[in-house]
Amino acid sequence: MGRVKLRVDTEEPVIRHRRADKAHRRDLAGPDPIVRIGIMEEYDRIEFSVDDIFDIIALNGNVVASGIRSDAQWYVAPYETEEARAIYSILTTAFADRDSADELRKRLASEGHPARIAEIGDEVCIDGRVVADNVKYRVLIGRWPTEKEAKSALEPFRDEFAPRVIRQIVRPATGIIDVKDNNFDWSFQIQDGFRIVPRSHNCPVMLYDVREGTGFHWEREVDRQYPGIIEIRIDHRALLMAYTEVPLETYLKGVVPSEMPASYPLEALKAQAIAARSEVLAKMGAKHPNDPFDLCAHVHCQAYSGCTHHDPRSSQAVEETRGQVLILHNMVAEAVYSSTCGGHSEDKVNVWNPPDAPHLKGKWDAPEGQTFSSIASDTYPLDLTSEKHVAQWIASKPKVWCNVEAHPDLPLILTRAMDNFRWEVSFSRRELEDIIKRKSGEDIGQLLDIIPIRRGISGRLMEIEIQGTKKNLRIQRELNIRAALSQRYLKSACFVLDIEYSAESRPVNFILKGAGWGHGVGMCQVGAGVMAAQGKKVEDILKHYYPGTKIDKVY
Ligand SMILES: [Zn+2]
Ligand SMILES: [Zn+2]
Repeated sequence: MGRVKLRVDTEEPVIRHRRADKAHRRDLAGPDPIVRIGIMEEYDRIEFSVDDIFDIIALNGNVVASGIRSDAQWYVAPYETEEARAIYSILTTAFADRDSADELRKRLASEGHPARIAEIGDEVCIDGRVVADNVKYRVLIGRWPTEKEAKSALEPFRDEFAPRVIRQIVRPATGIIDVKDNNFDWSFQIQDGFRIVPRSHNCPVMLYDVREGTGFHWEREVDRQYPGIIEIRIDHRALLMAYTEVPLETYLKGVVPSEMPASYPLEALKAQAIAARSEVLAKMGAKHPNDPFDLCAHVHCQAYSGCTHHDPRSSQAVEETRGQVLILHNMVAEAVYSSTCGGHSEDKVNVWNPPDAPHLKGKWDAPEGQTFSSIASDTYPLDLTSEKHVAQWIASKPKVWCNVEAHPDLPLILTRAMDNFRWEVSFSRRELEDIIKRKSGEDIGQLLDIIPIRRGISGRLMEIEIQGTKKNLRIQRELNIRAALSQRYLKSACFVLDIEYSAESRPVNFILKGAGWGHGVGMCQVGAGVMAAQGKKVEDILKHYYPGTKIDKVY
């Protein structure tokens, strides 16, 4: 895992200031650091074309073919392959420091659960300066040969943690890849993988039928153009994966328009560019410890669509903020964001693992000191962790930044965000039972009720109990709850439930009334758009959503 990789054009790689206690380190060279972004995984074939002269280079560095000029479409398929060997373990939680991890490991051991610590993530340096320490210590239990066996051992840990099963690759996949073009001019068999290296730096490589939005309502297959080098390899399941090596600033020109409409006000696009740049450096190595890339091109990390959606306005926002990131305690700060907070953002620690982050504490999405006493005068101040208050909150339309109805003269694109501020979905009992069965793999019998157990500070549910005639299911974490109660995902976990009953007092319909879209931690993108439309500058926006951080240029 996490091999140390140096910039490709460095002739004599020198690892500087290596700290003895850090296993992983990424050295990035200014003025334009290179990042590795995973685009495709688990494809049984990949098709590409290159609108430029290009070379094909094997993973061991051998030149397979040089100076190729081809207007053909190329086909890549696995030929003779062997899957990776993996072990499966239970991840209880992760810490930023080894001592806390060790303490938990010892306690678990004393309770009869032998645990171990696995270190993931990189320390990231730019031109020798440490800008981020993304090393995390995961406390793991058990080693099982299959995911199923590991899952069946989760139960005892559910009360204390939100445990999940993770995979560690112990032997990489291997195999031979067939590469040919449809003019029959070229045909190769290459061991394990190869790199497509175009001679120019525009946007020459086209990948066909790239899956986007897997699992979400906007899932689709699209053709995408990419700048930079593309590497295709055998993946863990002995299928194919593709990732790209691209300058960070070029990558951001593909991220910003994928994450925020390019017609948003410029100051909001600049806030988005700085947040996205900070996220790359603050997450490098920690999100894909088994993979040869830093981040994936999907919602899991940040949506990246190559240069297909490049837009002059988003590119301007990237260029005007070149090298700028959010800094907290001299390091690049995590800068997560989501579409619409619903009026109050969520604590980071409620959505992901500890440690807590002081700049990612949930807060009202409104100017400092604004109150909402008109919503519930008898219950002021509002406490969104209480069932009564959250119901009043969702039923109201408070004047917060992301309530686009409350702000006059907004650009058209922002007024469209209204449907995500407050929303409603309803299911018949049978429909919801089927979804729960399909998503959880459990047959609960007839669905009786869904009980909120715990809410985060934004009103988002962190734990629920689904009650059925055969069994009850506990579900933890906002994303799991959103997945469990929808064909794909609910817009957010901030919702209250109304049940309609039949004359015999059986539940017939389940109506979910909710607020917001996304996890709600950090910047509210719609709120940022409204702030910018009301004349706020990028500094004001970032100060509001990431209090305590400052903007600094790291290259
Ligand atoms: Zn990812
Ligand atoms: Zn908001």
